[in-house]
Amino acid sequence: MQKALPDHRDVTLITPSAPMATPTHGGRAKCLQRLVRLDLPVPCTVALSFDEVHRIAAGTLPDMRGLLASFDSDALLCVRPSSEDPDWGGPSAILNIGMNDARYKALSDEIGTQAAAALYLRFVQSYAVHVARLDPDEFDESDDSGTAGLSDALAAYEAEAEEPFPQDPAVQLREVLRSMARAWEGTTARLLRQAKGAPVDAGLGLVVQEMALGLGHGECGSGVLQLVESDTGLPQLTGRYLSQSQGRDALRKRHCSLYLERDPRGPSLQDLAPEAFAKLNDFAQLVRRRLREEMQIEFTIRGGEVHILDGVRVARTARAAVRIAVRLAQDGIISEQEAVMRIEPRALSELLHRQIAPGAERDVIGRGIAASPGAATGRVVFTSADAQASAARGEACILVRRETSPEDIRGMHAAVGVLTERGGITSHAAVIGRGLGLPCVVGAARMQFQLHRKMLIGERGRSFKEGDVITLDGTSGEVLLGSPETVEAALDDAFQTLMGWADEVRDIGIRANADTPADATTARRFAAQGIGLCRTEHMFFDAERITPMREMIFADTPEDRQAALAVLLPMQRADFTELFRIMEGLPVCIRLFDPPLHEFLPKDRAGLRDLAEALDMPISDVTRRVESLAEYNPMLGLRGVRLGITVPEIYDMQARAIFEATLDASREGAPVVPEIMLPLVSAKREVEILRARIDAVAAEVRAERGRYFTFRLGVMAETPRACLRADDIAPHCQFLSFGTNDLTQMTYGLSRDDAGRFMSDYVQQGVFDEDPFHRLDIEGVGELIAAGVQRARATNKDVMLSICGEHGGNPESIAFCREVGMDYVSCSPFRVPVARLAAAQLSL
Ligand code: PEP
Ligand code: MG
Repeated sequence: MQKALPDHRDVTLITPSAPMATPTHGGRAKCLQRLVRLDLPVPCTVALSFDEVHRIAAGTLPDMRGLLASFDSDALLCVRPSSEDPDWGGPSAILNIGMNDARYKALSDEIGTQAAAALYLRFVQSYAVHVARLDPDEFDESDDSGTAGLSDALAAYEAEAEEPFPQDPAVQLREVLRSMARAWEGTTARLLRQAKGAPVDAGLGLVVQEMALGLGHGECGSGVLQLVESDTGLPQLTGRYLSQSQGRDALRKRHCSLYLERDPRGPSLQDLAPEAFAKLNDFAQLVRRRLREEMQIEFTIRGGEVHILDGVRVARTARAAVRIAVRLAQDGIISEQEAVMRIEPRALSELLHRQIAPGAERDVIGRGIAASPGAATGRVVFTSADAQASAARGEACILVRRETSPEDIRGMHAAVGVLTERGGITSHAAVIGRGLGLPCVVGAARMQFQLHRKMLIGERGRSFKEGDVITLDGTSGEVLLGSPETVEAALDDAFQTLMGWADEVRDIGIRANADTPADATTARRFAAQGIGLCRTEHMFFDAERITPMREMIFADTPEDRQAALAVLLPMQRADFTELFRIMEGLPVCIRLFDPPLHEFLPKDRAGLRDLAEALDMPISDVTRRVESLAEYNPMLGLRGVRLGITVPEIYDMQARAIFEATLDASREGAPVVPEIMLPLVSAKREVEILRARIDAVAAEVRAERGRYFTFRLGVMAETPRACLRADDIAPHCQFLSFGTNDLTQMTYGLSRDDAGRFMSDYVQQGVFDEDPFHRLDIEGVGELIAAGVQRARATNKDVMLSICGEHGGNPESIAFCREVGMDYVSCSPFRVPVARLAAAQLSL
């Protein structure tokens, strides 16, 4: 074999001793070089760099004769794409270059006319369609009808191209290279790969390889093989082999494939060519060990001899990726830390929830914001009452609302998924959905929600009524008709092992936002190190609590208010005792009451009548009182700490409930040190006033019970002023937790409940790179946080700092929190594993 290739790095003959192909030859070239260095029987291969291919596209071709001289003069060649990332796609491979009338004749003598005709036909078909760009209908690539098909295809080529099929291998190779190079630079191809994350200037390398024919005498054929199963990652020899075939025929023509191993379903390669089979197995093990990765190996067998043509990373689901990484580490092939680094944290949420099966058919009827991951299938219902009725009948349902409010909590608990017309990533539905692990699509504004008619109209006008079955894909934001196949969550041993390794290296704490015992249990299951935010207002919407709550709101005198609060106190105490029990001594941060009071009041006539009855008041009085509580801008009105200052009895009751629960729970288990958090603080004086009151309640409870306990008081930094004045505030508290939902809302002056309506336009037009409620705006909101952190530490070096907005589970935000020196992040329980892994990767 002559090796006359000019010695320059852009066109490199891959040999065991040649310098390593640079990254600009692409992933395939690089992999082939590694296979060659392992001494595997790889046919002679030449790699063309990105620059070379770019020059070819621009019209400057390498010396073809020189290139051809690298290969055996009788060999057929193939050209395959070699981009940086195989997922970015690329032009189709072209096989059997060099086939012409003369080679056809010679090969007919050597391997038989049928086989030679099949090789030539395949080349003519792909050359016609992909290189000469002739009408694909005239060259059906599935037609492999031997000699007759060949003469038809050659005649069709001549008729369509108005010239005979090129016979000179140099011309053939030149045209193949040129067409592949140009295909990569075309606009459609560029847009397609950019959609998959490729940079604008992504390059293409090409690999020219001598063909090892899978057709001929003796056992000949081609196939692929891998050592693991792609969906689960479990060790299992998997692949296909097809006698008398080439390329990836064995995968396409499933019905006539052979199995690799002995298999009752049909003949196997192991039976046909046991030695080749054994060799392949050995090669695959060697590749796994030395390339430190599960690879799919493409091979050809010719007369019983094995040739390795290519290796690609095994395609895998997220579940398989975890198992593969863990097994590679357990086998000592990679380190545990590398296994941790190999998993994309966001991909973990695929494991934590049931998902739509990868290949399932998707009849998309609408789209919204993917607010809480996972797949849920159920019958459409339009009210929370119907959701509860449906659950009582044991029927899964999807709750469809314009938006949800605290009154929908019970409906949400009863539903398997929630779809809303309005709202963004921090809307009520989204926050509760993530907390419950309930798949949720919000802001599906292009669908029509005709709630009065109990109809839902899809984006393309199809209408659906109550009872119709739909599926939400909370991972992609799609709404699908019917019930596509799903796969279960997979918290298997591999997952647990990987998370254990991650925790060993992580250097920032991870807590969960948890409001209910169910949330807290999930938080423990995912190994959260405590509760970073318990939003207590969610505890007041239960049927038995809403009436005393309303009585409390309507009370005219402090005595009446105390009476109503006395009914709520034991309920709150029980809530907290249960949370403390579940968390077994881990820190629990309880935020005192935050929302505007009117959220607890009825909104319709029937509700007003119920309330009038309960309070024994005329409905007109009730209506007037409800109206008097309305605010123009409730998110900036009488809520949070402002309620604590103006209606202090509510916070007093909550503080008492927390302290009594602390004593009750500490008696049974690990001592509890509760954390009490004041929401929406903007001035130091707010903290001073409330600290004095809460200290007084603590003193009362200690005296009444004759037992001592401690607690920590903290502030939720969620107004810009709290960040700017953190130096003022920090000396009065033991911790500060940044509430980035409100902080984002107030920094942008952007309503978190309404932004969903135009957010996609804003992101599409590049005004925002991303929804700032989803990914923390480090430039703006982040600056306030960084100032807050630095100012708080300047006056109280021991103050504990954290984030508890929805951003807490987002890997980029975690990086930021770690950089500014926070102690922990807190996020929805189902995002805890994502946060644990992301944080571990940051510290490696
Ligand atoms: C916040 O504002 O970031 C926060 C965590 O509180 P909420 O979402 O309850 O307003
Ligand atoms: Mg808030």
